[in-house]
Amino acid sequence: MNDTLQCFLFEHAPIRGERVQLNATWQAVTTLRTYPAPLRQILGELMAAGSLLAATLKFDGTLILQLHGSGPVQLIVVECTSEHTLRATAKWSGGISNVGLRQLLGNGRFVINLVPRSGQQSYQGVVELNADSVAEIIEHYMKTSEQIDTKIWLSANAQQAAGLLLQKLPEAESPDVDAWNRVGLLASTVTSFELLNLPTQQLLGRLFHEEDVRLFEANPVCFRCSCTVARVADMLRMLGQDDVQQLIVERGEVEILCDFCNHRYAFDAVDAAQIFAQPAQTPPIPSPDLTRH
Ligand SMILES: [Zn+2]
Repeated sequence: MNDTLQCFLFEHAPIRGERVQLNATWQAVTTLRTYPAPLRQILGELMAAGSLLAATLKFDGTLILQLHGSGPVQLIVVECTSEHTLRATAKWSGGISNVGLRQLLGNGRFVINLVPRSGQQSYQGVVELNADSVAEIIEHYMKTSEQIDTKIWLSANAQQAAGLLLQKLPEAESPDVDAWNRVGLLASTVTSFELLNLPTQQLLGRLFHEEDVRLFEANPVCFRCSCTVARVADMLRMLGQDDVQQLIVERGEVEILCDFCNHRYAFDAVDAAQIFAQPAQTPPIPSPDLTRH
């Protein structure tokens, strides 16, 4: 099965849509680390949501979605680039019982960052978490912060993550005033099995068989981690030369593991001296420190 993102339009109604299916992309995340099942579901759904939202934006850069929690789960992060590459990870502590999103994250925030590649001003939006599902969080955020009517359906299991998004086009005045409600009701009959398994054409045919839907070509989606030696070196610069030297004295080297892809970076005294002799190489990304050392 392929990992694809596909856009569609309703020919006679001011509504656009996206459908994403993640298989190998999602399995790359779940084989790098074993997530407890309730957390894995939220992470997979957020990954599908990120891919859908990135596709609705015209931008060149990275979209970062973060769920910050005060419960057993402290952080869930998904990053999607405008080239449809994705990476994701989560931080949690202790055992995770079989409870819902509200219990896992407690009082928390949903943070969305749009980081343009060209070094232009990045955008950040923040809302309090008050929802039982990732879909509710995204719909609420889009309505209150972006003033765009959005409906989203998400699903994830151990092998797959998938999503379907509908968005009301803001500029259009259509004679079909009932279209948004009608299409939304039709889409809300989608089952988790259909979302995860049906090819997009078949899924849209099943949901909207009396509507005139134009389906665009599928875009490939894949897992890719954006960690680099230069980024890790910049993190060490932020940590400061004294602290880094202290670690090297204690352990012989500083070891950094990327939390997204498990790649190991090691720096000895010579590497560290070189790092602190040079200025920062990469623009800062408003992502929390997700590496462990
Ligand atoms: Zn990495």
